[in-house]
Amino acid sequence: MKKMTCKQLGGACDLEFHANSFEEIAEMSKNHGMEMFQKGDEAHLKAMNEMQELMKSPEAMKNWFEDKRREFDELPD
Ligand SMILES: [Zn+2]
Repeated sequence: MKKMTCKQLGGACDLEFHANSFEEIAEMSKNHGMEMFQKGDEAHLKAMNEMQELMKSPEAMKNWFEDKRREFDELPD
């Protein structure tokens, strides 16, 4: 199992996610982001806005994802 924090995945807090694949951890981070969004958490709203800006460019989004995947792959198990 590898671990990444909400912050490392483009979020805003130090909550840790544990998963065996990048897809899994990305999904966990997304669900957590949605939950915090629904709670109206300001730090996460800001982080999500920044992600949405990034998503306007498919190229930038792809690069971001590949960077994070590499970061995940390089983590010790
Ligand atoms: Zn968070």
